[in-house]
Amino acid sequence: MKALKELQSRLLEIDDLNHAAALLRWDQTTYMPPGGAEARGRQTATLSRLAHEKFTDAAVGHLLDQAQKETASLPYDSDEAALVRVARRGFDEAARIPNSLVSEFNEHQARIYQAWTVARPANDFAAVQPLLEKTLELSRRMAACFPGHEHVADPLIGFSDYGMKASSVRALFADLRARLVPIVRAVASRPVTDDSCIRQHAPEADQLAFGLKVIERYGYDMNRGRQDKTHHPFMTKFSLGDVRITTRVREDEITDALFSTLHECGHALYEQGISPSFEGTPLATGTSSGVHESQSRLWENIVGRSRGFWEHFYPLLQAQFPQQLKNVPLDTYHRAINKVERSLIRVDADELTYNLHVMLRFDLELEMLEGKLAVKDLARTWRERFEADFGIPVPDDRRGVLQDVHWYAGPIGGVFQGYTLGNILSAQFFAAASKAHPAIPDQIRAGEFGVLREYLRSNIYQHGAKFTAAELVERVTGGPLTLEPYMDYLWNKFAPLYGLREEERTAVEAH
Ligand code: ZN
Repeated sequence: MKALKELQSRLLEIDDLNHAAALLRWDQTTYMPPGGAEARGRQTATLSRLAHEKFTDAAVGHLLDQAQKETASLPYDSDEAALVRVARRGFDEAARIPNSLVSEFNEHQARIYQAWTVARPANDFAAVQPLLEKTLELSRRMAACFPGHEHVADPLIGFSDYGMKASSVRALFADLRARLVPIVRAVASRPVTDDSCIRQHAPEADQLAFGLKVIERYGYDMNRGRQDKTHHPFMTKFSLGDVRITTRVREDEITDALFSTLHECGHALYEQGISPSFEGTPLATGTSSGVHESQSRLWENIVGRSRGFWEHFYPLLQAQFPQQLKNVPLDTYHRAINKVERSLIRVDADELTYNLHVMLRFDLELEMLEGKLAVKDLARTWRERFEADFGIPVPDDRRGVLQDVHWYAGPIGGVFQGYTLGNILSAQFFAAASKAHPAIPDQIRAGEFGVLREYLRSNIYQHGAKFTAAELVERVTGGPLTLEPYMDYLWNKFAPLYGLREEERTAVEAH
């Protein structure tokens, strides 16, 4: 295994460069003074470029060939064979993209992101439009490095959700939309939920303290993690011993920080649960953005917004916020945190309408990549489609096409589908866990999460990127990705909350 050893030490250096860049980015969004922005952009770009150069070195390709021979007789699921397989996939991907395109993309990305931070509050789409046109061109050039695909978006989708492509995601989303829309319509015909009980002033320190209590119970290891404040919450990792989360706090809503904390904690539990023997290798990461998101949504929504969870935690929340909540019954609170409402902002959307936000973006980015939708028509098209899908007008681009960072900080295409894949998988994985351990719902009701977390760790987390998403889903649930558990989960949750009747579940769509 001489070549494999040599390969591993090279991969470790590349890993170090990438994690150093990640630390610089973490600092940029948490503690860096604004004056550091320009140099920081250059520093992270330098590290990323060095990592890409080292990875795509012909010597790495040669070592991969050798290591492939060395591991040829090992079983498919051995760590060594998986390491070579995953490194090979990454290498073939990276090697196809010229260094010059990587640099051009990085430089452009820094420029458009900076412009977006100004354009969004100013509601000025015109200011980013030419830059976004450039992003589209770069995204298409990036995709064109991988010829022979059915759809121009396929390589971009494959970067984050390996094995999925435009046609498979489209078919899945069409099915999901057909099943979601009748439920959303039925809920919209009911009285609007009063959620004023959570829309009360709550001091930042108390919100953070409560969130910490919950994530420690979830099993987030503070010896290998920490929490800091940021504008847009995220999870990041510098090694398996340092998996951090960031949280946003708005003091006008009691649970604002909590749910973003639970979400990022779900991502972090995944990373903290990866087998320590994978440290420094390409296996030491979540396997796809869909599977990653399945864990954030599982801990945030399926567990964290469940009735059982709050039977245990609501008295503790009341104790943390006695003035605000002492006269609010659990039922009222539980309804408030599960309020369904057709609204403008994706990240604030409820579990039912969230996927409609994702589908809108997915459709638009495919059309842009296909050349059917020009960037100059994007803001207008967004408003038209949004109103058709949600029945409410978009008052400005700030709450429309400018709201999400994604198109202004990366390629157009390949990112949004992961959110909805994650929602679907969260229910499928939770159903498998509950089938293996029928006591899990009762344990959640008692504030105990050890059995659930351990199930997820041993079946999903520990494997890191060893198996593809499709392989993992098959191993854990005994079948391919399917909508059934997710639709059952949504129905069983929202039908009682909104008094929906069985016949409303399958009502035929009007158009
Ligand atoms: Zn997430």
